[in-house]
Amino acid sequence: KMATLSTAFSKESDAPAIIIPTKPQPLTISYKELSTEVLSFQKKLASLGIAHGAAVSIALPNTYEFIVSFLAASWQRAIAAPLNPSYKQDEFEFYIDDLSSALALVSKGSFEKDAPAVRAARKYEAAIAECYWDGKEVVLEVKDKGKLASKGGQKLLQADPDDIALVLHTSGTTGRPKAVPLTQRNLTRTMKNIQGTYELTPKDRTYLVMPLFHVHGLLAGLLAPLASGGSVIVPNGFSARQFWADFITHEANWYTAVPTIHQILLKNPPPDPMPKIRFIRSCSSPLSPKTFHELETAFNAPVLEAYAMTEAAHQMTSNPLPRKGKRQPGSVGLGQGVEVAILDSDGKEVPQGSEAEICIRGENVTKGYLNNSKANEESFTNDGFFRTGDQGKKDKDGYVIITGRIKELINRGGEKISPIELDNVIATFPPVAEAVSFAVPSEMYGQEVGVVVVAKEGKQLSEKDIIDFVSSKTAKFKVPKRVWVQKEIPKTATGKVQRRKVADTMLAKDK
Ligand code: ATP
Ligand code: MG
Repeated sequence: KMATLSTAFSKESDAPAIIIPTKPQPLTISYKELSTEVLSFQKKLASLGIAHGAAVSIALPNTYEFIVSFLAASWQRAIAAPLNPSYKQDEFEFYIDDLSSALALVSKGSFEKDAPAVRAARKYEAAIAECYWDGKEVVLEVKDKGKLASKGGQKLLQADPDDIALVLHTSGTTGRPKAVPLTQRNLTRTMKNIQGTYELTPKDRTYLVMPLFHVHGLLAGLLAPLASGGSVIVPNGFSARQFWADFITHEANWYTAVPTIHQILLKNPPPDPMPKIRFIRSCSSPLSPKTFHELETAFNAPVLEAYAMTEAAHQMTSNPLPRKGKRQPGSVGLGQGVEVAILDSDGKEVPQGSEAEICIRGENVTKGYLNNSKANEESFTNDGFFRTGDQGKKDKDGYVIITGRIKELINRGGEKISPIELDNVIATFPPVAEAVSFAVPSEMYGQEVGVVVVAKEGKQLSEKDIIDFVSSKTAKFKVPKRVWVQKEIPKTATGKVQRRKVADTMLAKDK
């Protein structure tokens, strides 16, 4: 029954579902009000001509209108396609064209300004509508009917578990982003898995810091809490100061974020007294054991690192809550409603402790990329396991340890070096704020280790300091051949390091 987004949360409850911390008066929306609003927006979409299988590109920031339009599209059997609202025109064009979007939702004023999303939508004849909260309802203001002009109003539909509800593209860390269709069932499975892992209840209040245009924010930050009957606090952006102010005012008790956000919060701790945090979830990029310990100490809360990907509708594994088991720094924990196996290139399980590809199987996993038969052939084993592209192993208790992306392992004359392991070693050097390792070309070995480091504020670092430090900690073949000391390391919108790009940028400096 709960396998669609239209039946995944209560439509009757007066409990707060969404809190928008606007000042002086926050906007609090109950489950009942949310459902009424979504149904009314679904009717607007239907009368505009949106029906089964139509793609709706949502180029909105984290707002109430994002949440309502996303849910309404999925209730109407359409495909929601959230897009980073700060994309440039070329990027919008790529995504809108890739899905042949029927409709693009943009924020108020975008049409008049001829914003990048508007120009891209016009180019591919998608209808364009501004979407905003006017104090009473979420408005759908149609500006251009595009190809929907010839389509009449449609009936209200009822979603099926096998409908594609969401298409998101992978982050593009290892190449061109791939379009990942996720069904209602894929999404609701993840919602149940996350709810179960963290024992989310109606008493929980989560503070949403991650963007809703990626699975992390959408599934773990919004949909799983809604399925649990809890409340989600949705600020209109992120700053450490606002984070703590809202967190305290609205009595949030957990949040999920990438390590970059945790690090910003560590540098800007809350005023006394420390709010009571039930747990902190970290996901999407490796959390170094050092940051893990700093976080647990500073915020007096268990830190649960999880492992996720777009193709899995987000979560695959997580460390458990304290009462369910131990937390293992440097490990992403155990499969949560998802089968996890370490398989060799023939799809055979390797002995415990050996490294190979992390593979997963479960109701949350996509059936395959859109229009990409080559990737689909390579991505599934004969037994139906999905190949994540990540290299890893299981420890004796079954905890998964990610050692790197297969495409990013550093291969020094046949000796494989895990860039994540090396980053973590270098991060334990006190003057280091951050380190990213990658392969650099070498005539002698094919590849050697390169690393870019950022020094902590007020600290000095030299190439020799890093080489001496790593030499004292690891075997000689892992010692970097090249070290760059930089002010910052470029990241994607979700705080991911694109190692190949970082490497190219550093190597270009030599020219
Ligand atoms: P692309 O597939 O286009 O190269 P991407 O893999 O970065 O991009 P996402 O689906 O956003 O796209 O990210 C999933 C990947 O993020 C995982 O395969 C894994 O490499 C990485 N990841 C997720 N969680 C963690 C974690 N806790 N520790 C280390 N890596 C993680
Ligand atoms: Mg990927």
